[in-house]
Amino acid sequence: MNRPIPKINARDYKPLDIPEKTPCYVCGSTWSLYVEKLTEERRGRKDKTARRICKRCYQGAKTRAQRYATILPGTFDVARMERLKVSVGRCTICDLDLAAYLDRSTDTKLCEYCYQRAVQAQARGEVSG
Ligand SMILES: [Zn+2]
Ligand SMILES: [Zn+2]
Repeated sequence: MNRPIPKINARDYKPLDIPEKTPCYVCGSTWSLYVEKLTEERRGRKDKTARRICKRCYQGAKTRAQRYATILPGTFDVARMERLKVSVGRCTICDLDLAAYLDRSTDTKLCEYCYQRAVQAQARGEVSG
């Protein structure tokens, strides 16, 4: 197969309850674990069939989306973040993972990945003694 690799947005997909033996839309591997939501893009398509993707392609798309999700400086302080014991919804920044940290003063929620990025970003910005 020599077609270009389709670009997918992890936010457009949700996990399947049971893995399906449907070829992955992106890489063509046998089992799919995520299914496309009814997005605007899908509604406007000629073929409205929900695309299926495998776990690896979903993870790849998700990591890409999280890496490029913008952390706005000054919107929260990692030092104020509390580790959550129960999840309170999705991460404010990437909107992909469940939140693991919360800043109560600004109601910013961060997943593990975005929290680590924010810690690194703030550490870089700090001038130490
Ligand atoms: Zn795949
Ligand atoms: Zn996140």
